[in-house]
Amino acid sequence: MTLGTETRGAIAFDNSYARLPDRFYARLAPTPVAAPRLLQLNRALAQELGIEPQSLTTPEGVAVLAGNRTPEGAEPLAQAYAGHQFGNFVPQLGDGRAILLGEVVDRNGVRRDIQLKGSGPTPFSRRGDGRAALGPVLREYIVSEAFAALGIPATRSLAAVATGEAVARETMLPGAVLTRIASSHVRVGTFQFFAARQDTEGLRALVDYVVARHYPQAAGSANVALALLEAVIAAQARLVARWMHVGFIHGVMNTDNMSIAGETIDFGPCAFMDHFDPMKVYSSIDARGRYAYGNQPRIAAWNLARLAETLLPLLAPDQQAAIALGQAALDGFKPHFDAAYQAGLRAKLGLSSEAESDSELADALLEAMAQSGADFTLVFRKLGDAAAMPAGEDELRGLFNTSAGLDAWLPRWRERLSREGDGPEAQRDAMHRVNPAFIPRNHLVEEALAAAEGGDLGPFEMLIGVLARPFEDQPGKARYALPPKPEEVVQQTFCGT
Ligand code: AMP
Ligand code: MG
Repeated sequence: MTLGTETRGAIAFDNSYARLPDRFYARLAPTPVAAPRLLQLNRALAQELGIEPQSLTTPEGVAVLAGNRTPEGAEPLAQAYAGHQFGNFVPQLGDGRAILLGEVVDRNGVRRDIQLKGSGPTPFSRRGDGRAALGPVLREYIVSEAFAALGIPATRSLAAVATGEAVARETMLPGAVLTRIASSHVRVGTFQFFAARQDTEGLRALVDYVVARHYPQAAGSANVALALLEAVIAAQARLVARWMHVGFIHGVMNTDNMSIAGETIDFGPCAFMDHFDPMKVYSSIDARGRYAYGNQPRIAAWNLARLAETLLPLLAPDQQAAIALGQAALDGFKPHFDAAYQAGLRAKLGLSSEAESDSELADALLEAMAQSGADFTLVFRKLGDAAAMPAGEDELRGLFNTSAGLDAWLPRWRERLSREGDGPEAQRDAMHRVNPAFIPRNHLVEEALAAAEGGDLGPFEMLIGVLARPFEDQPGKARYALPPKPEEVVQQTFCGT
């Protein structure tokens, strides 16, 4: 596909959210910043969106990314939404520091949102300043792009711009704006916003919008709202299973941070765990461990129950009938999750066929890992090496504090692996395609952010370069695959909002 010369350098906006009724959003432009400076541009993503990358590096382009200039065709707005935060319902949240510039239809025909985050106050800001600090912006950039390389659905990062302004948090910090790209920014909380107002017409319009944009197969269903609910449940079950496979802890699975499109969104105090601990928590604001690693499937189901509640008036005219339909759909979460989770675990173990004992085999390894502080990512990576050469077992053993559990497990795994048709090399390669060597480890992220705050973007750029190829052994980059040394361990992560 070629762009006409007339659109070269422009963003071909094609906005649909701005066509929804006024009460879905507040129209306003971003608030300009003092001294925009482009820190990072995702050229490949720009191209995917049909935007000439070079056009975003000019002063006019950077002004757009900073919110200083509203580009031709943009219809900037802050979206309204509600949400359960740590279990407590807040009837109005909304974009308090983000502005949707508009949408483009990308090279694959997919509609994508272009949103500025940290772009100034909106009617939904409450007491917040509408701004973002450099650290959290670069953090989201790193983690969202790592997700893309891992092949896990997530919002993307198109650019990071320094504002030349300070933001007041616990200390004064350099400010930045992130350009976020999403399949859409509709959340479970968007549905809750209308349900809380008993605005059934608004809900109906939202359902129609989401079905047309994300789940067109539901449009032909006799019960469109039910088909939508089932599709979202399936998408979320698959997504959370993918998180579990890479040791990801979202950290703030509030209903306003759950995308209806089934993408990972809102990378706040999120973290990839190093040593395996099924109830690991990093977030400083999650004192009770509500969003611990092992709670994530349960919390996703809880959030989906909140979505189902909002849809009750549309599921059936009779409330009891509507509840029965919603409950039946929610009952689908567990089988969807279990199927995706178990299939992914089998692949991680190098098993392409399915045997009844596989889930027990996987659990036994996880159990051994939990008991001896083994690094989640490296165990699976080294297991791939061990599939091809028995000597690989020594390195694997080195990851466990005590290897008794592993030693008991390995013969069981080898026996099971021998029943697979593929040869050892093919098994290793298949395992390496699903078990990353490189994840955004907390200590590496912190190191990159600290350097960036001191004005050195080198470590940040190096890190995103390594994380762009997570499944390849990268000679010379071994340091990025290693768990933290004791003095490097990050105990807590922060939202930084
Ligand atoms: P989050 O924890 O990032 O999901 O945000 C929860 C809510 O707080 C959303 O409505 C955000 O828009 C809002 N919010 C977070 N940080 C800020 C900020 N610095 N200024 C204004 N609103 C904010
Ligand atoms: Mg949020």
